[in-house]
Amino acid sequence: MADKLEFQAEVSKLLDIVVNSLYSEKQIFLRELISNASDACDKLKYLILSNPDIAKGNGTLKIKITPDAKENTLMVSDNGIGMNKDDLINHLGTIAKSGTAEFVRNVKDNGSGVELIGQFGVGFYAAFMVADKVEIVTKKAGETQAWKWVSDGKNGFEITEAERDGNGTDIKLFLKEDDKNYTDTIYLRHIIRTYSDHIEYPIVLELGEAGEETVNNASALWMRHKSEITKEQYKEFYHHISKNFDDPWMTLHFKAEGNIEYTGLLYIPSEMPYDLFQPDKKNGLKLYVNKVFISDKVEELMPSYLRFVKGVIDSADLQLNISREMLQHSALIEKIKHGTVSRLLKELKKRAKDYDDYMKFWKNFGIAFKEGIYEDFSNREEVASLSYFASTADKEKLTTLDDYISRAKDGQKTIYYITGDNVQVLANNPQLEAFQSKGLEVLLLTDPIDEFWPQTLPNYKGFAVKHISQADEDFNFDRKEPKADEGSLKKLTDLMAEMFKNEIGKVTTTDKLTKSPASLTVENGQMSIHLERLMRHHQQQTVFASTRILELNPYHPLIIKLADMTADEKNKAQLEEVAKIILDQAKIAEGEAISDPSFYGEVVSSYILKAL
Ligand code: ADP
Ligand code: MG
Repeated sequence: MADKLEFQAEVSKLLDIVVNSLYSEKQIFLRELISNASDACDKLKYLILSNPDIAKGNGTLKIKITPDAKENTLMVSDNGIGMNKDDLINHLGTIAKSGTAEFVRNVKDNGSGVELIGQFGVGFYAAFMVADKVEIVTKKAGETQAWKWVSDGKNGFEITEAERDGNGTDIKLFLKEDDKNYTDTIYLRHIIRTYSDHIEYPIVLELGEAGEETVNNASALWMRHKSEITKEQYKEFYHHISKNFDDPWMTLHFKAEGNIEYTGLLYIPSEMPYDLFQPDKKNGLKLYVNKVFISDKVEELMPSYLRFVKGVIDSADLQLNISREMLQHSALIEKIKHGTVSRLLKELKKRAKDYDDYMKFWKNFGIAFKEGIYEDFSNREEVASLSYFASTADKEKLTTLDDYISRAKDGQKTIYYITGDNVQVLANNPQLEAFQSKGLEVLLLTDPIDEFWPQTLPNYKGFAVKHISQADEDFNFDRKEPKADEGSLKKLTDLMAEMFKNEIGKVTTTDKLTKSPASLTVENGQMSIHLERLMRHHQQQTVFASTRILELNPYHPLIIKLADMTADEKNKAQLEEVAKIILDQAKIAEGEAISDPSFYGEVVSSYILKAL
């Protein structure tokens, strides 16, 4: 009896794209099927650890590729874990993995990206690029019933009981008329070598009368010696393990010897993965024990700020039968993590010597990496030293904290920073005027994370790290320009304090502004205006606002004029109008929204008109 099931809507959409794709590199379907076969072998190998008899008599793990030119079919078989009926239903056709929607969107938006199908966890469906029918016969290890799954990739799929010797899976593709070339053994050999050479199980190509041939190298790449691995092989393996298809920006292959021995083959991508900031993003490392795949979910293996690092860690010192739960509290894992992170940071340090090259890394992963300044207690300073920031010192290039220190003025003991939404706006913030006139450099920080890391790094190499609102610098300006009269100034600040009492905690004057009439700041030690804005964006709930201070520049001609105007009651209306504009301009300079843009526009236009 056949069970007929529909594809879930999302899967249908995906299939529609895959089938109708004009993508020319169709051969990637084979890479995806081989990758699944290899995963199935990994899973069985792991199962055998706790249940040695589960696949007795099933032979060594391998992947078989059987072309049939007469029938125009191609079969990919493995003797791995296999699937039962539930697995078939859950994994091939009905479950809406979040990846499906992402993939569909990606291809629709970019008109390309089909080759990334594996990255989204839906690689199997690539089979329908070349096949108009797919037939799967599979038996799960430890079970007796085999199953057949058939689909044309359009009208759902059918599942029936079937027969199969031993556990494993045969995936038979009925090739489209145009795709007959996938029965050509020379072509197949070429594709397998190109994409799948690094697969650690033998990939055996059936040559008909000529017998069979193992096409790949079939040994764990990371266990081979560096000198035996070509750049191409490293890259292919990266593609396999990360499911990305860019070139790795960094490849780090090492063997740690000493107390604990382990091998690492780690990569940093050259492109940013789409899920870097998804909350459930896990680290990208696979843990092996002596070439047996154990888990890719050992979070303790890599700190979260390095979650973009992909690769393999293999340690024979871990017990083979260690449970995944035990791994989470393993002191060995902790030591491996520690050693691995040190190596990564050391390598990054080397690469940072080439600014342009390092920026390729930084633009993708800098935001995540900076999380390490507060997350990685033991490497805090190291991570900070490898982080780059925009600064008032150089408009073109980012700078490091060490470069900042090297430029510090005599007696300067503080690294200053300001936070906001974008570098241009920040660079023009009136609060910087005093720093500029004193020749003090200020870092212009624009990532949300920048609101947090300075709090865990109050000191760096003998320098305090401070927001400019907390400056303890002596800004003793001895200014000679004309200044507003003290008495009138007091009236002006009182008037404005009264006018804006719902928004502004305090109106004061300052010597620190040189160009702007006024500026907004917060009370020393309070949440910065930028952070407050972020919190407002990200949480729906109301945020307790910091007390805003409106600082007036008593040397500015406009402020002098306004202060004078307070002498005559009949100026009141105009005075209030201009006072509002001054507050609005202070808000704009800070990157804040103004409360009444149309009022602002009208008033400013009318004054411009008078001046023209
Ligand atoms: P992914 O490999 O990223 O999970 P795929 O679309 O390639 O996504 O495969 C979907 C799922 O189908 C796999 O996770 C696995 O559970 C199952 N599967 C596919 N091929 C095989 C196979 N040869 N043996 C066992 N299970 C398989
Ligand atoms: Mg897959």
